[in-house]
Amino acid sequence: MGARSGGDYLKAIRGLGAEVWLGGERIEDVAAHPAFAACARSVAALYDMQLAHADEMTYRAEDGEQAGLSFIQPASAEDVVKRGRMMRRWAEYSCGMMGRAPDYLNSTLAAMAAAYKFFAASEPRFGDNIVNYYRQARRSDWCATHTLVNPRKSRAAGWVGHADSEIALRLVDRTREGIVVKGCRVLATLAPLAEELQVFPSTVLKNEPAAKPFALAFATSCAAPGLRFLCREPFDSLHSRFDHPFAARFEEMDCVVVFDDVLVPWERVFVCGDVERCNGLYGETEAVIHMMHQVAVKNVVKSEFLLGLGVRIARASDAMSLPHVRERLAEMIMTTEVMRACLRAAEADAALNKWGIFVPARPPIDVGRNLFPRLYPRLVEIIQLNSSSSLMATPAERDFHSAIAPDIERYLAGADVNARARVALYRLAWDVAGSSFAGRQLLYERFFFGDPVRMASALVDNTGLEQCVRMVDDFLARSD
Ligand SMILES: Cc1cc2nc3c(=O)[nH]c(=O)nc-3n(C[C@H](O)[C@H](O)[C@H](O)COP(=O)(O)OP(=O)(O)OC[C@H]3O[C@@H](n4cnc5c(N)ncnc54)[C@H](O)[C@@H]3O)c2cc1C
Repeated sequence: MGARSGGDYLKAIRGLGAEVWLGGERIEDVAAHPAFAACARSVAALYDMQLAHADEMTYRAEDGEQAGLSFIQPASAEDVVKRGRMMRRWAEYSCGMMGRAPDYLNSTLAAMAAAYKFFAASEPRFGDNIVNYYRQARRSDWCATHTLVNPRKSRAAGWVGHADSEIALRLVDRTREGIVVKGCRVLATLAPLAEELQVFPSTVLKNEPAAKPFALAFATSCAAPGLRFLCREPFDSLHSRFDHPFAARFEEMDCVVVFDDVLVPWERVFVCGDVERCNGLYGETEAVIHMMHQVAVKNVVKSEFLLGLGVRIARASDAMSLPHVRERLAEMIMTTEVMRACLRAAEADAALNKWGIFVPARPPIDVGRNLFPRLYPRLVEIIQLNSSSSLMATPAERDFHSAIAPDIERYLAGADVNARARVALYRLAWDVAGSSFAGRQLLYERFFFGDPVRMASALVDNTGLEQCVRMVDDFLARSD
């Protein structure tokens, strides 16, 4: 099939039958449920966009299918740039608020399939499995979710090597048909709206026999028997788009995933019991860098949007000339330009890797990834600081159609906008800086790619430091 329409996507999730639990109830039709319907339509719109802009958003794959461009295994630096442009279109649709548009995992999977020898080194069939799964995902244009982290009762054991053995996801049996897994993972964003669950390792395990049952990488249908998704409280209940402009469109649900003796067929197993391969998976395959590419594009779009919002708010309150407002806007410009520079440098310096595909340059894209969790909270804070009480002077859409409407029209107009436009603007600002949706976005940016302390530690490991150290040593050794 290749790139599919939004209608095809909606049909697929409607008929899937995944076990999704919300507020004590099993949800039968996620596409129709108030907690998910709006986001389902947004994901569908992304798929439609691919078909509407097929020249920029799809490519001819080696099997002749016209596939979504996020599945491309870049054969040149130009391919990386083209993929970045495609990702930008999707990110613009949600103003950067849908971190889990399908390109996030599609580009990752493409990188893993290119690195099939990494998987084959453990067992030859695992190399075939990752390639076949990638091709099937591309042909079906699946929407996938993923889960990497085991829940932990105690963090006292430190960072390395510890899995709470009774609750973490683990291997419990090997049968002729496949492996049987049990336990729990946190989290899986977008799971109720996904068809496939990809389970990969991110937790570093101690290289010892006891860790083997936890060393797993596989994919399963979200509808596999025994697989359950437990949703958090939803932030959208088919709200008015005026009242909650983002929550009513882009609420990506996050789920705890329970595996109750789930059978995973052998052809969907990529790593089993190989601790070393699990620990090296993202780094060695360089899938992590392709994943960062989508993140970098999203970060640029999100920074640009918040900057635009900051300016719009300043204009609405006639505050563009105030020094402290200008200083804060300058800070937003700096963040935006740094994010643009990181992305541009990473794309410009894309190079062929050992698996035969082009990959963005790691140092700038990794710096952007490490900076954004630190900078995004400040962007949000600036929206709060520059908006203050206006974030609360926000009657609902219904109020504009009530007897009180003349009061609202009279008292709530802005410097350059009428009351309705001003309230709409600050309602949007609230969904960026104050609402449940906003709070979740903040948490997402802080943590979705992993614990920031360990990410920073990995940056130290992955950066060539010697040239800088040599400068110091050379200077110390200088006699002139
Ligand atoms: C909105 C959202 C969506 C997400 N979606 C997904 C998803 O789709 N798929 C997925 O796989 N994961 C997802 N995640 C989970 C994400 O991978 C984890 O949050 C991340 O890896 C950090 O793990 P943790 O939450 O267990 O925090 P921890 O690792 O427990 O860290 C919590 C805090 O404690 C500190 N800390 C931890 N251990 C130590 C220590 N020994 N010493 C000192 N400090 C320590 C950390 O620095 C951090 O500040 C999501 C997270 C969020 C918030």
